[in-house]
Amino acid sequence: MPKSKNIILKGVAASAGVAIGKAFLLDEDDFCLIYKKIPKNARESEKKRLDDAIEKTRQELKEIYNKINDVLGENYAHITDAHILILDDPTMREDVYKLIEDGTNAEYAIFKVIDKIIRSFESIKDDYFKERKVDVQEVGKKILANLLGKQERNLINLKENSIVVAHTLSPADTVTIREKLIKGFVIDIGGKTSHTAIMAQGLGIPAVVGLKIASSQIRTEDTIILDGNVGEIILNPSEEILEKYQKDYDRQYEQIKELKKLKDLSIETIDKHSALIFANIDNSDEVSTALNNGARGIGLYRTEFMYFNRNAMPSEQEHFEEYAKVVKEMLQYPTTIRTVDLGGDKFTKLGLLKLGQEQNPFLGLRAIRLCLKYPDIFISQLKGILRASAFGKVRLMYPMISGIDELRDANKILQSVKQELRKKNVSFDENMEIGAMIEIPAAAVIMDIIGKEVDFISIGTNDLIQYTLAVDRVNENVANIYDPKHPAVLRLIKQIIDSAHKEKIEVGICGEMAGDPHYTAILLGFGLDEFSVSASQILKIKKVIRSVSFKEVKEISDKILQCGDKESILKIMNTIQV
Ligand code: PEP
Ligand code: MG
Repeated sequence: MPKSKNIILKGVAASAGVAIGKAFLLDEDDFCLIYKKIPKNARESEKKRLDDAIEKTRQELKEIYNKINDVLGENYAHITDAHILILDDPTMREDVYKLIEDGTNAEYAIFKVIDKIIRSFESIKDDYFKERKVDVQEVGKKILANLLGKQERNLINLKENSIVVAHTLSPADTVTIREKLIKGFVIDIGGKTSHTAIMAQGLGIPAVVGLKIASSQIRTEDTIILDGNVGEIILNPSEEILEKYQKDYDRQYEQIKELKKLKDLSIETIDKHSALIFANIDNSDEVSTALNNGARGIGLYRTEFMYFNRNAMPSEQEHFEEYAKVVKEMLQYPTTIRTVDLGGDKFTKLGLLKLGQEQNPFLGLRAIRLCLKYPDIFISQLKGILRASAFGKVRLMYPMISGIDELRDANKILQSVKQELRKKNVSFDENMEIGAMIEIPAAAVIMDIIGKEVDFISIGTNDLIQYTLAVDRVNENVANIYDPKHPAVLRLIKQIIDSAHKEKIEVGICGEMAGDPHYTAILLGFGLDEFSVSASQILKIKKVIRSVSFKEVKEISDKILQCGDKESILKIMNTIQV
């Protein structure tokens, strides 16, 4: 059947840029399970293959048990018991053996048996037992991964420029996909500030999200034009359209070349008002790109990466090594390390915390709340950060602070960790600055109080907008009302900045709004000191700052604060000449 040409699908522009490539469809778990008939003389060795995979899974579960035991103690470690019990269930193994004896390959046999067990769990009325199917699923996946010799989603078969198409891609998957031939992401769910979108920006890969059912419409090998600037994809474009986008693609390349010329120039307006531009990073690999784009510091180091795609909590030593690497590479520039912000749309597969099962994860056990509830996780990270602070300028930042008590509780733990290190003669920076992210309206309202007990703040507009407007940042159905231009959001930002300045502390923004050149002039006019943005946006923001007058943007920002509707705000924004 001939392919229909020029099908346009609209979604949410999540990461800027144009990409052209062949669709590479990623299954939910990307296990390619094919039934294979096993000849009679090979069935015993097929059973042995299954036994080996089960044994390997047992070893992995033991390692998980030991690591959890080390970090959090025995009570937590026992959560792996359920997995071992499932693994050792004699009926399960007999059922799989029977299928293999009848000629089914081990992968397909285990898949069939696990599927049957899961379906029987679904018919159970009791919610607790019903949920145990997740454990069975987990064990099944582990055995399958070992049978298939897979650790991660398998992209090694890529041969040409490709665009990954998936129903959903977790932030963890996004950061681990670092294949050069991947030119873009097309995802059914999510909004502009979902963490998957943010990771794509960090990697400098164009992305369109919130496409609803795109992954079921697209076929492998379809040609896709992805326009991450407007949030649109075109399936199987005609020659004419392809040519037009190829030109855009080339223009994009030329623009980047032009922007590079700004790299070493000062960050100041034409009337000499200066600002800082820092980078947001997700791991140490991104530091060199940030520096190459002229970053003068790291304004947000999202440390969740340390917790993704692994079977045990990172150790203090791992924390230390990862952070020290960044700090040493940044030399005299500051590195703002944010303590872990798990929860929301970032849950680990560590299984400890039942994350991902909450009714309202963004209002749930997230970020600093989780760290205060499980201090062992927090302490091991704090030790790593403190030890890294001996090698350069580290700033420590707590996410999701909602009130002064939370800040004090976190600081109390920090003080005790410092005391422990002093006793052991471990060096760290005694003057390390402590900051809070202001991303919950409650914290914004009491900025004067928080401002007296921190050294700096960074406004997390991604969450601040979500919580101020009551709009889920990852829900594509409400993506159109998630808008930084809402007058309440703009006024709140201005109030935070003024209130913090009264306490003589520096204010940054590390949410996506800081990296959007449309808002640069307004934020500068509000008095923002530091823009922390993904590496790909640094020079674009610098270009705007260098082309405006501070006096003028201040006047414009004042006018904007008087507006009650977005339309008038937009009108004034459009008068700014960049
Ligand atoms: C924010 O909320 O603006 C922010 C920078 O943090 P994150 O996107 O990681 O929640
Ligand atoms: Mg946030």
